Amino acid sequence: MKSLKEQLLQAGLKATPNPKAQNEREVIAKKKITETIIHQEQRNFCEECQQVRPDVELYYHRNPTTEAEWICVKCADRLKIADSFRQTAQSDTSIKRMFRREHGATRNADEFKNHKPQKTKTEVNGNR
Ligand SMILES: [Zn+2]
Repeated sequence: MKSLKEQLLQAGLKATPNPKAQNEREVIAKKKITETIIHQEQRNFCEECQQVRPDVELYYHRNPTTEAEWICVKCADRLKIADSFRQTAQSDTSIKRMFRREHGATRNADEFKNHKPQKTKTEVNGNR
């Protein structure tokens, strides 16, 4: 004869919640808090030239020569990344309304006031 526990498990009932699963939920919650803090920070480190710059912005570009997304004006111009790929106006230069691109037209800072950076599925780079 089977024990009561075995019969309950066969019926699809779990005796106790899995303590490991509870730990995993905690980790996710902590990560969410960290991401929120990062989003509130001002970014000024150019991932392309590896230097702190006052004009670093986020670009969701399709340039295959770099994987950098937070890029200073100098690098964005050198890489010929159009300003239409820019997602933010968060740098000191943008805040002071001194942000100017050499390569192509510069977007108006007012366009970014209610803009949230968003990648569409078609823009995901499969080589990453
Ligand atoms: Zn740079």
